[in-house]
Amino acid sequence: MGLETAIPTDSVLTTQLNRIINWARRSSLWPMPFATACCGIELMSTASSRYDLARFGAEVMRFSPRQSDLLIVAGRVAVKMLPVLQRIYMQMCEPKWVISMGACASTGGVFDTYAVVQGVDQFIPVDVYVPGCPPRPEMLLEGIMAVQRIIDEENIPYDGEGHRLPLEIALQPNYEPRPQPAEVSIGAT
Ligand code: SF4
Repeated sequence: MGLETAIPTDSVLTTQLNRIINWARRSSLWPMPFATACCGIELMSTASSRYDLARFGAEVMRFSPRQSDLLIVAGRVAVKMLPVLQRIYMQMCEPKWVISMGACASTGGVFDTYAVVQGVDQFIPVDVYVPGCPPRPEMLLEGIMAVQRIIDEENIPYDGEGHRLPLEIALQPNYEPRPQPAEVSIGAT
């Protein structure tokens, strides 16, 4: 049981080379996790058996930027860590994509202080913003699927000097917040 049953192996397929290349690229994204805080835990659970990132061909987390093409920034980034993030981005192979996961990576979140970067897009190009604090694993999967759609459509803009331009796609939350199971009262006697 396999592809051979659906497509007879003596058939001939014709297509364009760039479609094959895009298909291969989007089916084998290798993420570089830059997890600095609580969002990193959700990122880890996305790769677990329950959410199974492998279904999307993106479960091969690499911890070397030279082997990665999808940077996932998960968590707040301290100003001290910023040069590290930039260096990792620059060392990744082309073409590469960036997901900003969670409120802290995208805006600094509740950490409105001089020590926390108020949005990584001020320093590296971001293609997809994943909302939430933290985003659920399903939301990150949405972000990865958005990157896959970008690759499929070959929507990779460059400026005149060969620098990659960010796509800046903001996802909508894909869940309804549920009410508290029991009423919460503070200071009640
Ligand atoms: S967005 Fe929320 S969950 Fe994610 S790192 Fe910031 S505080 Fe933690």
